[in-house]
Amino acid sequence: MPESRIELIQGDITHQDVSVIVNAANSGLLGGGGVDGAIHRAAGPGLLQECRKLGGCATGEAKVTGAYDLKAQWIIHTVGPVYKDGKSGEDRLLASCYRRSLELAKELGAVSIAFPSISTGAYRFPVERACRIALGEIKQFLAQNPVPEKVVLVCFDSFTYGHYARLFSMI
Ligand code: ADP
Repeated sequence: MPESRIELIQGDITHQDVSVIVNAANSGLLGGGGVDGAIHRAAGPGLLQECRKLGGCATGEAKVTGAYDLKAQWIIHTVGPVYKDGKSGEDRLLASCYRRSLELAKELGAVSIAFPSISTGAYRFPVERACRIALGEIKQFLAQNPVPEKVVLVCFDSFTYGHYARLFSMI
């Protein structure tokens, strides 16, 4: 069952012992605030040097780097949509972030992958709507693919965790 391969926790994604950590980056891929800043601080300066060579990333797309000082083997940087009015392709782009990240993780042969709540911080995507999209995409991908074996959803704050936990209990 795909559901048993998904774990929900409240915590800091930089502390997760997984093969891949997903970064909710911005299109420049040169670091920023929120989870992006935390990942760059924890990974160390080598990450920014590698990111500089990537030439940015389009919204809804994803790119891989090494994970430097993190326990993980790789970081997948994906760029979530800025939420405008909910009618500007935001849902499709957010779904694409989860799907492209999982596809890249599969190509890498990653056993496990941890996601933050993409776009629901500075990019203001409503948490419940984002969570439904995240769970839907992840479930669909896992139903069709044996790798990655495990997906960890990491919620940083209790507000986000509460929303995810409620929807998670329904899947
Ligand atoms: P975005 O610009 O995609 O909205 P943010 O980093 O602003 O990205 O926020 C996305 C989510 O990541 C928010 O729920 C925020 O609380 C969370 N977050 C911030 N720091 C961390 C961290 N160290 N680990 C996991 N999640 C984090």
